[in-house]
Amino acid sequence: MTIPNTHCVELSNTITTIRDKSNPLYSKTYCACTTIQLPYNTTINHQNVSVIAGPCSIESEDQIMATAHFVKKAGATILRGGAFKPRTSPYAFQGLGIEGLKLLKKAGDYYAMPVVTEILDSEDIAMVSQYADILQVGARNCQNFSLLKKLGKIQKPILLKRGMMVTIKEYLMAAEYILAEGNTNVILCERGIRTFETETRNTLDISAVCVLKQKTHLPVMVDPSHASGNWKLIHPLSLAAIAAGADGLMIECHINPEVALCDGEQSLRPDKFELLMHDVKELCTMLNKAVL
Ligand code: PEP
Ligand code: MN
Repeated sequence: MTIPNTHCVELSNTITTIRDKSNPLYSKTYCACTTIQLPYNTTINHQNVSVIAGPCSIESEDQIMATAHFVKKAGATILRGGAFKPRTSPYAFQGLGIEGLKLLKKAGDYYAMPVVTEILDSEDIAMVSQYADILQVGARNCQNFSLLKKLGKIQKPILLKRGMMVTIKEYLMAAEYILAEGNTNVILCERGIRTFETETRNTLDISAVCVLKQKTHLPVMVDPSHASGNWKLIHPLSLAAIAAGADGLMIECHINPEVALCDGEQSLRPDKFELLMHDVKELCTMLNKAVL
């Protein structure tokens, strides 16, 4: 289903008329704030905090159903799950492919949650779009300009993750590639960058959240799972992200992280996710925001 971004009409009009390099489409000159409309009356917007949760990868029907059940119960509104995984080693689990997409959609339909999954190859855009409500561009493809241009030609929301070696300016220009082709439904996601630090998988760039919020009308989310690589850091980093002004979180969760086929060490089990959601809701109440 394609839902036009009616909250950003100024931007849609601008794309077809003016093209000005000194006034990029991501800037607030064109639009105060973009709202992403999703199925099941779900939105990602600047007034509230949206929580995307789910496993790193879809492993089986039981796993995705059980995970969807507990994340929904705790208050997440969008379900994630990878079917095509960008793994460092070609011998590591690569995802269930189209079978995984079908299971993800089944879980999303059953629990009335929009679903997000990664698109690795531009040849798969039409196929993945049949199952997913948001297409994720992973950190490794953040500057895959030919993929970004093709995603600009559809109207599905795109969750563009920050590349691990990409500056804030370069990141915004990556988003611009999608906007310039006409797709105004772009969501940003800070997921940590590579630094000299080795205690964490990446370094969560909290200041990027504040800078992005100042420079663009696009929603800004934070993924503390990939930023830290450590489930023990997800709780404090999530609260820090919300305090810094993030519009949402993307959290890896698993019914049994010890046996996860991918990223179990950075996935929350049900009780920890529930605790996190409790504190997220408390913080949001203080900030006069709702958790969507
Ligand atoms: C993911 O979210 O599944 C993922 C692979 O993240 P990233 O692209 O940020 O590494
Ligand atoms: Mn992962």
